[in-house]
Amino acid sequence: MAILELSAQDVRKMFLYVSQRMVESKDLLTQADKAIGDGDHGVGMARGFGAVAEKLEGQSFNTVGELLKTIGTTLLMSVGGAAGAVFGTFFSGGAKNLGDAPSLDSRVLSHMLLDGLEAVKQRGGAKVGDKTMVDALQSAAMKSEDMSSAPLSESLSAVAGAAEQGMEKTKEMTASIGKAKTLGERSLGHADPGAISTYLILKFMTEFVTERDAPR
Ligand SMILES: [Mg+2]
Repeated sequence: MAILELSAQDVRKMFLYVSQRMVESKDLLTQADKAIGDGDHGVGMARGFGAVAEKLEGQSFNTVGELLKTIGTTLLMSVGGAAGAVFGTFFSGGAKNLGDAPSLDSRVLSHMLLDGLEAVKQRGGAKVGDKTMVDALQSAAMKSEDMSSAPLSESLSAVAGAAEQGMEKTKEMTASIGKAKTLGERSLGHADPGAISTYLILKFMTEFVTERDAPR
């Protein structure tokens, strides 16, 4: 059976899983950032998602929007630097039009990604091709529109695949904003760390849902 939607309580469990896996991705993200930046991305994201896990452990949520806002605020306060602002804005912005939605389905996922993308673009001024997380996120958000009537397990999997493609494309780009821009051509061949994090978050969301989907 395909998973159609997740209740707010299950979305909370999903982000506890995502947080744990993001903390475990610290070294991978550190290496990725060392290749084209100052190497602080892994530590920042691990600290941020560690804080998210602590926050979600002790709280229950009635709506998906309330949960996303809490994640956004926590990341903003704990990741630090530009990444804190960007990923905090992504989650908080993603909650903007969710109203009282009590569960996450493919339509809600698409709102979250499209509004999150818009908020990130407005805040940071990055556009597609600038070698940032926007390259992964825009690809994911566009795919989510196509998949908005599919079961959640199917749309998430397609969306994570699209984020991976967007992330892979950043390898062929030279950075034009952010710290990596000082590297210019030397950033060629390396993916943007924020794009990798964006892909990983969606991949871990998919893993959680797919796990539930497996026959037992
Ligand atoms: Mg950095």
